[in-house]
Amino acid sequence: MSITAPQLQTILDEIASIAESTTDKGRVADYIPELAGVNPDQFAMAVSRPGQSTLIAGDANTRFSIQSVSKVFTLALALGKVGDRLWQRVGREPSGQAFDSVILLEQEKGRPRNPFINAGAIVTTDTVLEGATPSETLGAILRFVRAAASDDEIHINDQVAQSEITTGHRNFAMAHYLLSHGNLVNAPEQTLGTYFHQCAIEMTCAQLANAGLFLVGGPEAPRLVSDDRIRRINALMMTCGHYDGSGDYAYRVGLPGKSGVGGGILTIVPNIASVAVWSPGLNRYGNSKLGTEAMQILAEKTGWSVF
Ligand code: GLN
Repeated sequence: MSITAPQLQTILDEIASIAESTTDKGRVADYIPELAGVNPDQFAMAVSRPGQSTLIAGDANTRFSIQSVSKVFTLALALGKVGDRLWQRVGREPSGQAFDSVILLEQEKGRPRNPFINAGAIVTTDTVLEGATPSETLGAILRFVRAAASDDEIHINDQVAQSEITTGHRNFAMAHYLLSHGNLVNAPEQTLGTYFHQCAIEMTCAQLANAGLFLVGGPEAPRLVSDDRIRRINALMMTCGHYDGSGDYAYRVGLPGKSGVGGGILTIVPNIASVAVWSPGLNRYGNSKLGTEAMQILAEKTGWSVF
């Protein structure tokens, strides 16, 4: 039986008040200096269902840095551009390693495990960038996100991007390593400049929930990619979207999701809803601590699950 909007609103309000009273909110990512100062006491959740108005709770109109959630949009663009040829350059298996780990890249000779760990996302962005300039590519990424959200008020925070350009040494190391294996087409500075700016897209929780609608499917959802591709992207979100915490997220929430170190998580309930949650404090995997807990409660209370 489907849940009514008032029932869902009650659940969201309950979750927001639980989040507010939880004392252990995790740790804000501080390796990106510009994100280190974000107030950890903020929490927001938004549910968007095709053809219905978006429901919100908490600070759902505050913008945050979507960081690795952006990898979902560039994956969709890369698959749209080169199709299954993408898989020659990047794998589709969970890594069991931290998002910025370099260890597998060496073992697997420069072919990243999946498109959601940093190395794989750098290859994905490199694929989208090939044959275009960084600003054209960022324009294409922003156009896609804005079309998905039906919202033109989505922008890139240049200060956050610059902050990563000066401190993102691990990502530079990975890009050069990829290049040494012939798995980077553009200059590392160009690909990483694009990647850091894509990660620095800012959205509110409401905007992010709306932007995820293209992955929900069904007759009323926006059609930006084919049904087949929706299934594939969701499968990758389920198996790889939370790095070495993907199994834990699948166990606790049972839905495909993609996290970012800004504390956002986008979760898809196939054929039903797109859900965004934001709480800047992270757990040991670098995924939002309260965001994960909130999604677990939402899944339990609604019965939403792919299983
Ligand atoms: N821009 C971040 C980085 O490359 C994204 C990481 C994340 O959100 N997990 O380190």
